[in-house]
Amino acid sequence: MPANDTLPYNGLQLDRAGARRGDADWMAQVLARPDARVLAFRRDACLTAGGRPVTAGPRADAVFLGMDGDDGVFAVDLSDMDEAAALRAAGADAATNVRALFRTVGAQDAATLAYARGMLHWARNQRFCGACGNPTEVRHAGHQRHCPTCDRLLFPRIEPAVIMLVEAPGSPRRCLLARHRGAKPNGYATLAGFVEIGESFEDAVRRELDEEAGVRVTSVSYQASQAWPFPSGIMVGFRAVAESDDVAVDQDELLEARWFTRDDLLDLLAVHRTEGLDRPDSIEAYLIGTWLDEQ
Ligand SMILES: [Zn+2]
Repeated sequence: MPANDTLPYNGLQLDRAGARRGDADWMAQVLARPDARVLAFRRDACLTAGGRPVTAGPRADAVFLGMDGDDGVFAVDLSDMDEAAALRAAGADAATNVRALFRTVGAQDAATLAYARGMLHWARNQRFCGACGNPTEVRHAGHQRHCPTCDRLLFPRIEPAVIMLVEAPGSPRRCLLARHRGAKPNGYATLAGFVEIGESFEDAVRRELDEEAGVRVTSVSYQASQAWPFPSGIMVGFRAVAESDDVAVDQDELLEARWFTRDDLLDLLAVHRTEGLDRPDSIEAYLIGTWLDEQ
């Protein structure tokens, strides 16, 4: 199984140049160079031609992503145009979901596109100050916004979520998967949920498992994390061990939760591959894969 830094969207190798991106003159020079790469997006979708991300022309409002060697990498948001106009402006033929590109563009481009999508999503939703309602202004090449009316600074925000593989106590080894409301007949998945204010990650794991599946756990241990800017998440993966086999699902959230042996899980994964239910770009695949590999 992959190490943490090879999970999809992790391990971005661009130099974010955090100490220099506040230098507007330097930024303008980098953007004006012929080798600058400007990715184009519209409403979270990457503009592509022939299935590859296009490089658009520079715009003053381009968000700086980082340096790839001597070349700047930027992203522009064409959400102020309708789709046809945005495609024309960028020389693109489609607006493509970033996650759909994960298999074809390579690990570094997948990470760059996810990062770009998250940055543009944040910027598009912070055009007005949440404290006083007046327009905000861009700073630091898109990495800060400032409200000139009340002098508030806004920084890109991440919303953490926990995702966990729960093991039953005793043998044979079994892990818990659930079907959420609206899931297909074989659409079992690990449990996950957002961290609430005032919780640690471990607190959130315990609460979510208790609330959704009626499962109490004796231990919670960190496994790996994954950049997940869809639109603003980070997934924090855990392994937990249940106190007992008891499961009592909250029917508002889940249709069903049950224990899977290794053989049950291998059968399920075979079904997923044929029915297209799996999420190969998710940390879920890592949590399940490492568990299977241990046995
Ligand atoms: Zn304000």
